[in-house]
Amino acid sequence: MKVLFKNAKVLDLKREQGYFCGCVAVDGNTISYVGTKEPAGEFNRIIDAKGNLLMPGFVNAHAHTPMTLLRGVKDDSSLHEWLFDGVLPLEANMTNDDIYWGQMLGMAEYARNGITCFEECYFGYEGICKAVSKAGYRARIGIGPVVQTSNDYDCYEDITNIYNIIKNSTDSSLVNMASYAHAVYSIDEQKFEALLRLAKEKNLPLSVHVSETLKEVGDCTQKHKGLTPPALLEQVGFFDRPCLCYHCVHMDKDDLQILADYGASVATCPSSNIKLASGIAPIFAMQNKGLNIAIGTDGTASNNSLDMFKEMFLVATLSKVSLYNPSVVNARQVLEMATLNGAKALGVNSGEVAVGKNTDLILVKLTEPHMQPCSNLLSNLVYSAKGSDVYFTMVGGKVVYDNGEYFLGEDIQTIYEKANKIRNRLEQKN
Ligand SMILES: [Zn+2]
Repeated sequence: MKVLFKNAKVLDLKREQGYFCGCVAVDGNTISYVGTKEPAGEFNRIIDAKGNLLMPGFVNAHAHTPMTLLRGVKDDSSLHEWLFDGVLPLEANMTNDDIYWGQMLGMAEYARNGITCFEECYFGYEGICKAVSKAGYRARIGIGPVVQTSNDYDCYEDITNIYNIIKNSTDSSLVNMASYAHAVYSIDEQKFEALLRLAKEKNLPLSVHVSETLKEVGDCTQKHKGLTPPALLEQVGFFDRPCLCYHCVHMDKDDLQILADYGASVATCPSSNIKLASGIAPIFAMQNKGLNIAIGTDGTASNNSLDMFKEMFLVATLSKVSLYNPSVVNARQVLEMATLNGAKALGVNSGEVAVGKNTDLILVKLTEPHMQPCSNLLSNLVYSAKGSDVYFTMVGGKVVYDNGEYFLGEDIQTIYEKANKIRNRLEQKN
């Protein structure tokens, strides 16, 4: 489908004011024209942006999307209580069908809030793949081993099966994969080896939770002769391939240097880190090391919403308050993290409104009171805007949200009904 956007403020972070006024044309999944003049040609649809903002969709670099089903579970309790008394018992009874509807609900929230691509780490891959395919969403799916249930469990066989499920049931132009190790405290040597083997054989990047809590770092150094999680990951050869590290809250200089040496990316998840009282990631220090920093929402059981505007606000403001310095980590840098850096981290050709890039685009309303005056657009986007300011979302040239209407292959009311029914059932069983 050929679409022309006209009368738009087009986000361009390379320009001083961060945008220009003009037109963007797309041809299916490819942006075909970006400029100040209206291009000639026939279009299936012309969208008059009426002076609102056209920008790349957000890339959510770390998510456990079906956790939408667990929104609000054991809130305001310790991480241990939240996980062992809240999350895990409910997850134990989730079926693939439950995960399908949880994934659908999460993608509805993504579409509503302008997130066009996400990194998925969960279980129930049949459910995830079915939902992602039906909605036509862009995602990178992390292949992680299931909980070991028997002594003759073969991790390599398990993850190879998952690889085949994803490969055979999704569209490779929208979905790519990573070999996903949960964390150093939950993955043993045999599983690390299997994940590295799969990554090498299938030419996959790697993803892992790193130094999310002080407990994780303390336990790791105690168990592994003083090695921190990044040092241990380096030792097992984890950084020999492109790697995305989630959280990275408790990182010293040497830890950051390891990531810098190998060109690893970081996905910072500020809402989750402050809600679970894990800490504040050292974003300014990461910038000084030249790391590619992306932003993730994490799951809705620890966030509890999937809104990159909220995450951007927190990345900037937490960095400032933690250093008592309001000049560090500015709005332009944070917008780059939420778009282009995320795309780099996930290996997708998105994150920018530029010719040849994927048509992952959103329209943001600039006419609400909190967005006026519009003299500093980049500041307004990071410090004033919210997900509900998005009124149009397109993934790979396909509209997934348009002014209150969802186009995800399932009716939005049905998604809500299913999610509520599933949650009730899971809580009754527990
Ligand atoms: Zn996580």
